Amino acid sequence: MNARVMIVVLFFVLLAWLVRGLVVEVAARRERKTPAPKPRPQVPGETDDNPLAVPTAAVVETRLDGQPCRRCGTPTRVREHLARQGLREVTLHCPHCALDATRYVRITTVH
Ligand SMILES: [Zn+2]
Repeated sequence: MNARVMIVVLFFVLLAWLVRGLVVEVAARRERKTPAPKPRPQVPGETDDNPLAVPTAAVVETRLDGQPCRRCGTPTRVREHLARQGLREVTLHCPHCALDATRYVRITTVH
């Protein structure tokens, strides 16, 4: 292998190394610019292990009716209200975007 071929090969090796470094740097910068999404704070009633506590069943619907829709913020309406395994399962419906959301309610007063 003569000296000229060696120089050309070294040039391309160096070029490949520089391009690879640039690609790694650009990817790292992009990763820094997009932080991981923060977990949304847990609102009582969104999960069955963290139900909203209300004193009596009579106030379940009045407490939940009109809650803002998670997607568009429009006040929601109570569509369904079921008693299930010691909890009330309430389906909220958004009249604007049609999103249905379930809320869990625990009745604190024992009869
Ligand atoms: Zn909505």
